[in-house]
Amino acid sequence: MTDLHRLSIRELSEGLKQAQFSSRELTEHYLKRIAKIDPKVKSYVTVTAEQALIEADAADAALKSGHAHALAGIPLAHKDIFCTQGIKTTAGSKMLDNFISPYDATVVAKAKAAGLVTLGKVNMDEFAMGSTSESSYFGATGNPWALDHVPGGSSGGSAAAVAADLAPIATGTDTGGSIRQPASFCGLTGLKPTYGRVSRFGMIAYASSLDQGGPMARSAEDCAYLMNVIAGHDAKDSTSVNKEVDDYVANLNGTAVKGLRIGIPKQYFNVAGLDADVKARVEESLKKLEEMGAILVEIDLNMTEAYVPTYYLIAPAEASSNLSRFDGVRYGYRCENPVDLMDLYKRSRSEGFGAEVQRRILIGTYALSAGYYDAYYVKAQKVRRLIQQDFLKAFENVDVIAAPSAPTTAYKIGANLSPTEMYLGDIYTLAVNLAGLPAINAPIGFDKDSLPVGLQLIGNYWSESQLLSIVHQYQQNTDWHTKRAAIAEENA
Ligand code: GLN
Repeated sequence: MTDLHRLSIRELSEGLKQAQFSSRELTEHYLKRIAKIDPKVKSYVTVTAEQALIEADAADAALKSGHAHALAGIPLAHKDIFCTQGIKTTAGSKMLDNFISPYDATVVAKAKAAGLVTLGKVNMDEFAMGSTSESSYFGATGNPWALDHVPGGSSGGSAAAVAADLAPIATGTDTGGSIRQPASFCGLTGLKPTYGRVSRFGMIAYASSLDQGGPMARSAEDCAYLMNVIAGHDAKDSTSVNKEVDDYVANLNGTAVKGLRIGIPKQYFNVAGLDADVKARVEESLKKLEEMGAILVEIDLNMTEAYVPTYYLIAPAEASSNLSRFDGVRYGYRCENPVDLMDLYKRSRSEGFGAEVQRRILIGTYALSAGYYDAYYVKAQKVRRLIQQDFLKAFENVDVIAAPSAPTTAYKIGANLSPTEMYLGDIYTLAVNLAGLPAINAPIGFDKDSLPVGLQLIGNYWSESQLLSIVHQYQQNTDWHTKRAAIAEENA
């Protein structure tokens, strides 16, 4: 079969169960595509071809025995922030260029236990800091819809791999938008779960109170399948929550769109820099949801102006603490010929970290330093609480909140935005992480340059099923999620 990469996760699962094709055939099909097409996209940092075929054979054996998990034998790509035993985990950094983890992240272990086949590790902004994937030590990744454009970030490799049909699904992480924004830029569905729903164990930490892993795929249905594998409590992550996990696939039609109250925050649509095409597509998608029975309700989210400054204090503060472990001593990059311990620390860190990571460490260290701690860090924490309360108040009156995922579509590689310009592009995604809420991106059409536009739906805590269900029903009534970039149409 030449078009296995066109099948949804449900179709792949059925095809494997009915032995229409084997996991080995499917895996070889994807590996062939990666070999031929990925040199143009550059989404993979490491391809684990040999290991993948061993896993595929094991999945085929399990499928034959009739005791296989629903996803057994289906390939996936992991963002290179998830630790993988025996396989390089770089976090997009020179610091971890040669790092091989002695253990698997829980997300990776769960995927393996379900019989999913790891195709490899995909590119990302260094330590997940960025919105373009350009800050990766391994170079930029192309957006499959226009290869000279960024795929977004930080999970840009995950988005590009799926959008170019170089993996049917991928894992991503979202600290301030890194699942939703690249999903938006690449025309995919991506879910950022409630903080605590997916284990952070073995996920290299950026900002621990904000980091959350989640699925990136073509459709809400595909995301639901992967959520069923990766969600759940983990004793190895003290912030993971011990709460029953939904069957996200079974719940795909569980939320009634008829009568659903969708909040439209006034402040979000007056943001300077909101692209006219993005605004128009978002409004059209809301109109469609209205036709399907939803009720649009104008709401206020008064803290909008505080999102960017609050996040860009708290995230760097946590990063400065988390990244202190990379000191050239225990693991990671070590400078040549240090003259003393201080020289070892200084040069290992200045040579091992890229510019954006260093900038964030400096900002974070400053915000946490004596004399500034109360004025910056503590103040930001107080504002964070107000942002959360703003959402909780809104949810008294609406079921979900709609917003763009990003103010623009993908921009050119090398556009060289200033740090503040880049940070402003995160305006629609940051607050969700600050409040710990779940949110989803769904593709809703294209701009004048044929680049994808995304709609973000933000839900109350633990509403992953509801968000997936709403998007699933939208996708039953529209075909934006079925559109493919030209490069995805290429055969290997
Ligand atoms: N773009 C944001 C940042 O640079 C969010 C990144 C993320 O979610 N990992 O911090």
